[in-house]
Amino acid sequence: MTTSFDRMWADLEPLGRDATTGGYRRHAWTRTDHDLREWFAGECAARGLELVEDRAGNQWAWWGDPDRTPGVVVGSHLDSVPDGGAFDGPLGVVSALATVDALRAAGARPAVPLGVVNFVDEEGARFGIACAGSRIITGALDADRARSLTDAEGVSMAQAWRDAGRDPAGLGPDPEAVRRVGRFVELHVEQGKALAVAPDGGDDLVDPSRAVAIGTDIWPHGRWRVDVPGEANHAGTTRLEDRADAMLGLAAVVQSARAAALAQGCVATVGKVDVVPGGVNAIASRATAWLDARGSSEEAVRAAVAAVTEEAGRFGATTALESWTPTTSFDAGLLDRLRGILPEAPLLGTGAGHDAGILATHGVPSAMLFVRNPTGVSHSPAEWAGREDCNHGVAALTAVVTELCAAAGPEPTGDVR
Ligand SMILES: [Zn+2]
Repeated sequence: MTTSFDRMWADLEPLGRDATTGGYRRHAWTRTDHDLREWFAGECAARGLELVEDRAGNQWAWWGDPDRTPGVVVGSHLDSVPDGGAFDGPLGVVSALATVDALRAAGARPAVPLGVVNFVDEEGARFGIACAGSRIITGALDADRARSLTDAEGVSMAQAWRDAGRDPAGLGPDPEAVRRVGRFVELHVEQGKALAVAPDGGDDLVDPSRAVAIGTDIWPHGRWRVDVPGEANHAGTTRLEDRADAMLGLAAVVQSARAAALAQGCVATVGKVDVVPGGVNAIASRATAWLDARGSSEEAVRAAVAAVTEEAGRFGATTALESWTPTTSFDAGLLDRLRGILPEAPLLGTGAGHDAGILATHGVPSAMLFVRNPTGVSHSPAEWAGREDCNHGVAALTAVVTELCAAAGPEPTGDVR
């Protein structure tokens, strides 16, 4: 039997897929993005949902009037990283629309308005700021700064808006749109292997009780810049004992990041470096490494970075914090309700950022559901979720929405820790 999920998935499959890599290039405010937004609008119209856009261009489709009472919102995003997978984002949007279909098929009429959202520019692939859509409406990203962000071709977000036929002057915070969201539940493909690995360490791709997890929090996350000094000189004529080679310090920083993360039970990555002068036959006079560190515990992350800083110091390097985001905990009251509705679901923290985290930080009671990913890979065409597990995801989301929309229920705590 072909379900509405299957049909929608088949519709989306060719949009923005690169023929060579098989990966998706669905970047904000491009032609492909326009096609995805049109697709979303069409699906909402076919269901008789009222579509409104906020001042960042996020699309909200409502069943019921959210100005009467704030609603329950489900959904995610349709954009991708360069050569991304099919599931990161679209799984949440398609599951949300399939949930509407499941409620309709069951003859349900939500007592609380139900919204489906397509957040714009979640990956930040084009303009460099992740979750731009949710950050703009909550004021976490300044409107002037957003307008002036540029892509790799030097096109500003303001110009991209004009190219898409929109007036960038309207871009900005939208407290009205945010006020309509009483609760937000974002279903997302898992971006790791926690659900695909059984407690005994073996693969587990069949246990239905491990198909869907409840997200508990988003890990604390920091970025640091490490500058290692050196002295430029000739790679052929300089004696080894006379060299001050910045690359040796850089190598030590990379190695110590791995060792410190292992020791502390967190993750740390050097994924970007800059070497000066950058010649094959020149000893490096300076090397810069950017360190990304995250983990379930802030103390562990800070201890790991302290160890890297100490190692870097042995090479005369300086380490500077560039950004720090503390743990984002999802709403305690909402989590309690999800645990009641899905008693078997494992609880899972995540090392990736999401629009649900931006809304939670802003004080909107938010939560997430994660669907098992057998490869554990994300931001790559290898990202995957089996259709059985996708169906479990829709069933879980339907159960959650049915319960949350049935009646007001206990008020969420609104705690943002
Ligand atoms: Zn995502």
